[in-house]
Amino acid sequence: MVQIVEPRHPVSLADYESVADLSATVRSLRQEAESRLAGFDGRRLVMVNSTAQGGGVAEMLPPLLTILRELGVDAHWLVIETQEQAFFRLTKNLHNLIHGAGDPNLGAPDHAVYDRVSAENAAAMEDFLQPGDVLVVHDPQPMGAGALLREKMDIAAIWRCHIGLDRETAETRAAWGFLDPYLKPYDHAVFTAPEYIPGVLAGRATIIHPAIDPLSHKNRHLQVHDLVGILANSALVKPWGPVMSPAYSEPARRLQADGDWAPATEPEDFGLLFRPIVTQISRWDRLKGFFPLMEGFVSLKHGIEARTDLDEHHLRALQLARLVLAGPDPASVDDDPEGKEVLSELCAAYSCLPPHLQADIAIVSLPMSSKENNALIVNALQCCSDIVVQNSIQEGFGLTVTEPMWKRAAVMGSSAVGIKQQIRPDLDGLLIKHPGDPGEIADGLDALLSDEAKRAALGRSARQRVHDNFLVFAQVKSWLELLTNTTA
Ligand code: UDP
Repeated sequence: MVQIVEPRHPVSLADYESVADLSATVRSLRQEAESRLAGFDGRRLVMVNSTAQGGGVAEMLPPLLTILRELGVDAHWLVIETQEQAFFRLTKNLHNLIHGAGDPNLGAPDHAVYDRVSAENAAAMEDFLQPGDVLVVHDPQPMGAGALLREKMDIAAIWRCHIGLDRETAETRAAWGFLDPYLKPYDHAVFTAPEYIPGVLAGRATIIHPAIDPLSHKNRHLQVHDLVGILANSALVKPWGPVMSPAYSEPARRLQADGDWAPATEPEDFGLLFRPIVTQISRWDRLKGFFPLMEGFVSLKHGIEARTDLDEHHLRALQLARLVLAGPDPASVDDDPEGKEVLSELCAAYSCLPPHLQADIAIVSLPMSSKENNALIVNALQCCSDIVVQNSIQEGFGLTVTEPMWKRAAVMGSSAVGIKQQIRPDLDGLLIKHPGDPGEIADGLDALLSDEAKRAALGRSARQRVHDNFLVFAQVKSWLELLTNTTA
């Protein structure tokens, strides 16, 4: 079975063009499309993945396809469907193996399941496809079907892999060994980072980075009254009084610099009300590095009294700094036993801290009942944070890094492969070499908390870096290049 999905994205290119620092980008994208698509006449782009809702790929496709359509590409979206549980178990295992986990014992029965479902999906897609189409297949689930169609029809086929590990292990060898025969017919592959390209695809792969949509609820510009409203409604302002209020914090001054807001009066004692906020927002996953981050923050706080190197401003920033650890409410996320476990272990570690340190740390579980509401809370939290941390032990590409960079936060990321693609160290943010080392985390936070000018400079450069590389327009441009260069 295959579903034809209509991509729904409420924003048009004209909407993006009306935003000050996006208009030139959209104009140049229109020109690029015009010149590139001149030779693409009559050909269609057909993207296929395994789910229309939920997950990063399903979220990324509607803006990508809608913009491509508006630029003149005849773009379509198919979703494969099957009831075979054994197929889902197998492809979930392949997904884990490509990440370096999972069961590497794959054999003939696995190939039999994969071949059977791939043949069914290929048959269902065949009626939709036309000669000359460029088929883009996302991740391992529809790869087998795409391979069969490429062998049978006069089409081009590209495999888009959203996952990867930067080293070879028994697990990754098992996955690529299994997938090798299905990869062979593909004309080209696309990965998120060069480190993820397996040997079998060397010379046949391109890099396209994931991207964010600057007008989505998660990334659109929020006015100060929106920020306060969103945080107050989600009970994030109240417990801390002025802590989360942007009125006296550095992000408020960033907004002020945008000409968006001006305080009626200057606070009498700015320093007393100034509360630097350090935030990490992620799924409650062990690989996101929440535990060493909390330990690092605690060790920074513990050491303050003994230090003789602090001037008054630095001392005050360290004393007042607060840490927010936020993630989706596990009760509202299906099928995430690890999330519940990690959150409760984190809360247990927190409850062992002395009360004065507990008062400086908030563990927040974000409501997930409304996607829009959750996105707005994430947006507001990132906007009101002075430092956003992403201390991942492993990260394919952290959207939680791109999002705060776009909001001009000072970002401190780990040196996980995906994050190294995003942050140029000391230019767009800080990179922590060892995300498991609380001492290094404490030093990084200390350096950023002591230097407001550095935070502002990192934030400015981060915004520009995202503008140039990680907005949906850069992604569309890369796809235009690839499509118009790929022929069957
Ligand atoms: N996110 C969210 N609510 C949360 C936690 C995370 O909406 O409570 C979002 C976050 O803003 C980002 C995405 O989930 O857009 C996570 O993507 P990322 O690439 O950082 O990591 P992944 O979860 O895919 O490993």
